[in-house]
Amino acid sequence: MNCEIICIGTELLTGDTLNTNVNYISKHLSKNGFSVLYQTTIGDNPERLQQCFKIAAGRSDIVILTGGLGPTQDDLTKETIADFFSMPMKRNEKQVRNMKNHFDRYNYVMTDNNFRQCDIPVGAKAIDNTRGTAPGIHIEKEGLSVFLLPGPPSEMSAMFDLYVMPILKNRIDQLVISRYFNVCDLGESMVEDTIMDLVSHQNNPTIATYAKLGEVLIRITANGKDAKQLNERLDQYESVILKRFGDHIFTKSQRSLNQVVGKMLLDRHLTLASAESCTGGLIASKLTEIAGISDAFKMGLVTYSNEAKEKMLHVNKMTLEKKGAVSSETAREMCEHLKSISGCDLAVSVTGIAGPDGGTPKKPVGLVYIGVCGKNECYIEKCRFNGNRQTIQQKAAQKTFVLIRKMILDISENHKYN
Ligand code: AMP
Ligand code: MG
Repeated sequence: MNCEIICIGTELLTGDTLNTNVNYISKHLSKNGFSVLYQTTIGDNPERLQQCFKIAAGRSDIVILTGGLGPTQDDLTKETIADFFSMPMKRNEKQVRNMKNHFDRYNYVMTDNNFRQCDIPVGAKAIDNTRGTAPGIHIEKEGLSVFLLPGPPSEMSAMFDLYVMPILKNRIDQLVISRYFNVCDLGESMVEDTIMDLVSHQNNPTIATYAKLGEVLIRITANGKDAKQLNERLDQYESVILKRFGDHIFTKSQRSLNQVVGKMLLDRHLTLASAESCTGGLIASKLTEIAGISDAFKMGLVTYSNEAKEKMLHVNKMTLEKKGAVSSETAREMCEHLKSISGCDLAVSVTGIAGPDGGTPKKPVGLVYIGVCGKNECYIEKCRFNGNRQTIQQKAAQKTFVLIRKMILDISENHKYN
C-alpha cells in the first residue's frame, strides 16, 4: 500500500522546527510493511495545500497530514481538506465535551476559537486527542484513506499509535521483519566491504548500512507472509554477519554504546573511574544516563587544567612540561594514577585538542589520547578525529567507550550481546 505524508507548518520550511513527525510516521509505516513513496512539507498556505493534496490523492492509497489543526487563524488544514471533498462542517458535541474536560482539568480558560477545533467535516470521523485539544480527522473516500493529525509531536504520535496504525495494520497481510546490528570500531566503507557479496546480491532480505557517529548500523529486512520462513532466511544472514564482524558488533537491540558498556560493567560487577580533559565530563554524563550505574561508575573527574592534572591525579610536572598535557605519557599517568586513587577495576583518561584553536603542526586539532587501565594492563590509544569542537568531543567519548568495552572483553570471557 502506497503512503504519502504531508507536513504543514511554515516553521518547518524555515528550519525553526525540526520535522520529527515525518520521521516518526515514515519509520512506523515502513516497519509495518507500507511503502512511503512521497513526503512533502509546505507552509501554512491553503492554496499550496490544495495543490499538494490533489496530487497526493491521485497517486497514493493513504495520505497522512500533520499540523495546522490548532485553534489559530493560520491553522487551515481541516478546512482545506474538507473543501477539497466538498464536505460541510458540523460541530461535534463529544469533542466539545472532551475539550471542556481538558480545559477544566488544567484550569485553562476556553476561548471562542477553541470551539472551532470541534468542527468536524460531515462524513468524517473525529479522532480523540489523548494528549491535547485538537481532534484528528479520518476520511475514507473512494478507496483513499486520509488522516489529519495534530502538529505537536506527542499528540501526533499518540494518535498515530492508538488510532491510525491499528486501522492500517488490519489492511496489510504482509509481514516485515528487521534485525539490527550495531558495529563499532570500523568505518562504513569497511563494514560494507566486509559484506559486499550480501549487499550486491540482496533481494529479500534487503541489507543496508548506515553510518552514525562513531558506529555503523547494519539492517537486514525480510518481507513476506510466513514469519517462520522469514526468520529462517534472516537467521542465515545473521550467522554470516556475526561471524564476519565478531566482537565489533556491540548490540543487536539498537542500544547505544554507552548503555551497552554500562550494562557490561554492571553484569560483571566491575567498577570504573574516569578522568576527562577535552571531553569535559561527557563520558561521565553518558554513563550517568544509565539508571543504577552508581554500582559500577564510582568517580568522574574533569581535570581540565594542568594544575588539576597535577593536584588531583598526581601527573608529574615534568611530564606536563616536557611532553605536554596532550601526550600519551600524560594520558597514561592520568589513568594509572586514577586507578590507584579510585581503587576501581578500570580507569579511563582522555586528553586532547578539541579546537578550534590550540592546534599546532605537531599536535593538530582533533588529536586525542585515550588511556584505559584494566586489572593488569593499560593501553593508550592515539586518535585523530575530524569535525568541529562538539563532534571531536563526541567522537572522543564514543571511542573511549569502544576502548572500555574492549578492555572488559579482554578481562572477561563470556561475551553475550546486550
Ligand atoms: P500546529 O498543529 O500546526 O499548530 O503545530 C503545533 C506545534 O507542533 C508547533 O509548535 C509546531 O512547530 C509543532 N509541529 C508541527 N508540525 C511538526 C512536525 N512535522 N514536526 C515537529 N513538530 C511539529
Ligand atoms: Mg502550525
